[in-house]
Amino acid sequence: MLENLSPQPADALLALIKLYAADPRSTKIDLGVGVYRTGQGATPVFGAIKAAEQRLINTQDSKAYLGPEGDMAFVNALIPYVFGAAGDKSRIQGMQAPGGTGGVRLAVELAKSAGVSRVLMGIPSWPNHAQIFANVGIAMQGFSHCAADGTADMEALRNAIEGAGPGDALLLHGCCHNPTGIDYTVEQWSEIASLVSSKGILPILDLAYQGLGQGMEEDAAGLRTVLAAVPEALVAYSCDKNFGMYRDRVGAFYVQSADAGQLEAIFSNANALARASWSMPPDHGAAAVRIVLEDEALTREWLDELDTMRARMRQVRDRLAAAGTVGGIDLTPLAHQNGLFSVLPLKSAQIVALRERHGVYMAGSGRINIAGLTADNIETFIAALGDVDE
Ligand code: PMP
Repeated sequence: MLENLSPQPADALLALIKLYAADPRSTKIDLGVGVYRTGQGATPVFGAIKAAEQRLINTQDSKAYLGPEGDMAFVNALIPYVFGAAGDKSRIQGMQAPGGTGGVRLAVELAKSAGVSRVLMGIPSWPNHAQIFANVGIAMQGFSHCAADGTADMEALRNAIEGAGPGDALLLHGCCHNPTGIDYTVEQWSEIASLVSSKGILPILDLAYQGLGQGMEEDAAGLRTVLAAVPEALVAYSCDKNFGMYRDRVGAFYVQSADAGQLEAIFSNANALARASWSMPPDHGAAAVRIVLEDEALTREWLDELDTMRARMRQVRDRLAAAGTVGGIDLTPLAHQNGLFSVLPLKSAQIVALRERHGVYMAGSGRINIAGLTADNIETFIAALGDVDE
């Protein structure tokens, strides 16, 4: 039976990790893997999380099942950060999910159950988005996310929305677009909100990097603009980057419903989908995040750590942008992009040359992890870019 399974393509990024590990050069630079790194190249556990985990170990007296909705105190503690002070909280409810991935999966499955037949999405996007659509069995209509000048392609978005209506969803990255770093401006978010609301399109808002772009409030502002304009929307949230929880799989899924009375039926569907997929989300990481959010001092410490990360990435972006055009690549737009990633418009041969000649490892798409650059390697990287000009 199992011989019917044909091999699936290997994950390109995992293959890159192996290549990097096997490279003996001490000067090699890893811009592939999508995790934050300090100026020393480490991806440490947040101090606030360490303290919360210690407290959790000392006080947790049971690991009995919680249920498909997970730790609701965690889910509710995030609500002010995601939805802000305004907004009708009686129409908002959430549940825990295994990472932002679980949140996206649940959003797409629930949208399909509700009769959504197509998702519009700017391309390129996080590769797992398209994989989830295909896996769930929902059609995707892609449109270009980036204009030539390194900002969002609003014309392509307008055209895509023009041909859409009820029964369609639009997936939007809340901030720190993966892979391009190209986020919408305040004005663009307002336009998107009114277009989506006038067309009756269901927004699916993916917020995986809150606090890593411009700030906690700023990074949720676009999402909130959309939520204020539409009756209903789905939100997938990840704590894996902004709390450094990656492997602990900490995420949540929220619904804004048109009417508070609909939430019970909506969540009976979401719970059934969760039960049939992962039954219940992993507890440990979400419990640690909850402890941070319920404690003023730990919250302060966490926000300070986040500020440091954001400032470091901004510094790297500013240094790259200050280099101007290098190797035929205009680096100036990077200063206005946000988060862990940007895409450099390199040809495949240049990406290979960077790896082979200079030990610079990046995804085949030209995506670079901004946090892979440090004071020790950034000048080497800029010089290497200049050396692979075609
Ligand atoms: N959405 C986007 C846009 C992402 O980039 C990622 C993670 N790379 C996720 C969702 C999922 O995050 P998690 O690791 O929490 O599953």
